[in-house]
Amino acid sequence: MPAAQVLIDGPSELVFDYAIPEGMEVVPGHRVKVPLRNRPASGTVLRVHEPEEMQFDLRPLNSLIDPEPLITKGMLALAHWMSEYYGTPLEHIMRSLLPEAVRQENHSEKTIKQAIAKENIDDEVLTTLAKRAKRQHAILSLLQASGSEGMPVSQLGEGAAGPVKSLAEKGLITLKDIAIQRDPDGDEVFLHDPEKKLNPEQANALTEIVANLQAEDSQSAKPILLHGITGSGKTEVYLQATQAALEAGKTVIVLLPEISLTPQTVQRFKSRFSESPELVAILHSTLTQGERFDEWHRIRKGVARVVVGARSAIFAPLPDLGLILVDEEHETTYKQENPPKYHGRDLAVVRASLEGATIVLGSATPSVESYCNSRIKEKYQLVPLTKRADGQALPLVRIVDMRNEPKKGGPPILSQRLRHAMEQKLAAGDQIILFLNRRGFARSLTCPTCGHTCECAHCSIPTTYHRAEERLICHLCGYQAIVPRICPKCQDPSIRLQGYGTEKVEEILRKVFPKARLARLDGDTVRKKHVLKRTLSEFKARKIDILLGTQMIAKGLDFPNVTLVGVLNADLSLNAPDFRAGERTFSLLTQVAGRAGRGEMEGEVFIQTFVPHSPSIQFARHHDFEGFVEQELEFREKYHFPPFCHLALLSTRSRHEKRAEFTLQTIHRRLSENPPLGLEIGLPNPNPIVRAHDLHRFQLLLRHRNPRTLTKHIHSILAKLPIPDDVILVTDIDAHDFS
Ligand code: ADP
Ligand code: ZN
Repeated sequence: MPAAQVLIDGPSELVFDYAIPEGMEVVPGHRVKVPLRNRPASGTVLRVHEPEEMQFDLRPLNSLIDPEPLITKGMLALAHWMSEYYGTPLEHIMRSLLPEAVRQENHSEKTIKQAIAKENIDDEVLTTLAKRAKRQHAILSLLQASGSEGMPVSQLGEGAAGPVKSLAEKGLITLKDIAIQRDPDGDEVFLHDPEKKLNPEQANALTEIVANLQAEDSQSAKPILLHGITGSGKTEVYLQATQAALEAGKTVIVLLPEISLTPQTVQRFKSRFSESPELVAILHSTLTQGERFDEWHRIRKGVARVVVGARSAIFAPLPDLGLILVDEEHETTYKQENPPKYHGRDLAVVRASLEGATIVLGSATPSVESYCNSRIKEKYQLVPLTKRADGQALPLVRIVDMRNEPKKGGPPILSQRLRHAMEQKLAAGDQIILFLNRRGFARSLTCPTCGHTCECAHCSIPTTYHRAEERLICHLCGYQAIVPRICPKCQDPSIRLQGYGTEKVEEILRKVFPKARLARLDGDTVRKKHVLKRTLSEFKARKIDILLGTQMIAKGLDFPNVTLVGVLNADLSLNAPDFRAGERTFSLLTQVAGRAGRGEMEGEVFIQTFVPHSPSIQFARHHDFEGFVEQELEFREKYHFPPFCHLALLSTRSRHEKRAEFTLQTIHRRLSENPPLGLEIGLPNPNPIVRAHDLHRFQLLLRHRNPRTLTKHIHSILAKLPIPDDVILVTDIDAHDFS
């Protein structure tokens, strides 16, 4: 007899088998009510199967919650794919597919009571009512006037509850619960933004996308890699492709790297479809549980047909999925750093293929992996946009060698050349963006005598000085410490702040340019609600002259009056202990530079660095993506990194250093016995950040051409190896974070 394997709602991910009662049609994805110990519970059917052993005492399912399975076949297929590829049990993955808010029944739809008058009420009844119960008569007349729609009881005035009840008891009115929408953007008005006439390159890109949308054999159409330089009008192509998919009766997912940091792109989708606002659902991380519930069901029912969101929006339960757009596909934020550690872009490609949808990956600086998939492996179709949509030239990029800056004189974070350029632009009334990828005031507090640097008490990294709080703060765990007046180690009073953060640069800029209107955007200032949106719209309205910020201002912003962009320290991302450091620096510099000269005027970019000859910086200077990728691929091939292999990173973490180390050594030993052909196993090493959140960390890197071979081998070993209770083991397939 077949049984249903059910994942019980709740935090503990319990999975049990239940017997399927005679006559009940149950398929995977159904929501069901089940008995659990001696109370009722709800859950989701993962599989319907023949239990391996005879289980005589299987209890039966109680009932189906919804007649239709809530999770579609396509989504279940994606979950199974993830489970196999990442080696994660299906039950951990269902959490992503079916958000907490949807699994909890108490977040059901928000309803209101609506009162509707019966049709054809006898005049006699009305006359009697008018004499005996004036209030009931008044309410009934009101409801009769509002026709078959009726009115919400709450709008019938104070003290209406009693008369309404009496009217209902007499059968003169009916009461109904009506679901209403909680609309997160309900108070915003979006002006309609009409379609732009595409230039020939954009038109060609749209034609290619539409051809895939209409392809008979959609399964064989290749993913499209839309390689468009900054300002080439990729977003306009996305918008018109979305329109085309909607006209074909299909639905659309738009993935953005970080939804809260891309308000301009979100706005453009809302504005383009402002004539039917219910079409577009925006999945923010800040939605309340109730809003999330409503959005999920709006999507599932096919009311919202365009879903815009960050990586988890790839799980949006859209029926008739026709198109997936992944903007800035190279962004590392698409990789989820909590288990299951999936990659949103990769899942997008898989989901599109499973559901026969068209997929477009867009970027000015495609990831080395995606580029290789198009140019070398020919798995993707490359569609280029080589010109700026407004016909402007790319900005002129100048490298400022900070080693030549005079030691005395101005602060060593603002070169003389950049300062002069800023003076000129300010005098001309142009706008400036300055970029520094570190928040806080100073990088660290360091003693010049003994070399001691103040570190976090829980992590092995320096704490950053924040002036506003007058504290040393750990950027990893948030730990705060009082600022010592003398060196804690050698008692020297000359201990001092080293390095620059945005907070300190703000202070310097206010001194150097006292008349300029200046705003700072970083993780500290945007903590207050609406600061980001407000600052960006003030900048757009030219109420701000200089915008200073961290990488949150590098993405997707489009301000025509910005003619100067300064990168204050290009070396920060180059020094990361990561084989992708060069790629990240190149793409960051290209993205930041792309903010300049988007309007009528030409743009200029200054990149300040201590390593002016670094290839990432030189290729970015010449806007030479092909040149960069070519040398990067050589490096990746030589040292055997992706895309020439897949990586799996195993890490152990423990409060006890030795336990973390021994456990990983044991795992290493077992993995090395009978390895599959072609497996490369590194040695267990401390992480670059050896301690974080009080846990000591060790890591082990494995490589193989085939990711499934990696996952399979790792899990065949781990399944038989008990991990001690005080050690956490994390497996990361296609790892992106090596700190
Ligand atoms: P990208 O996303 O590639 O960086 P955007 O989509 O932001 O580029 O486009 C840059 C600017 O060019 C925007 O202001 C956009 O409105 C404008 N634009 C895009 N396509 C066209 C077009 N076909 N005609 C006129 N302006 C366009
Ligand atoms: Zn810390």
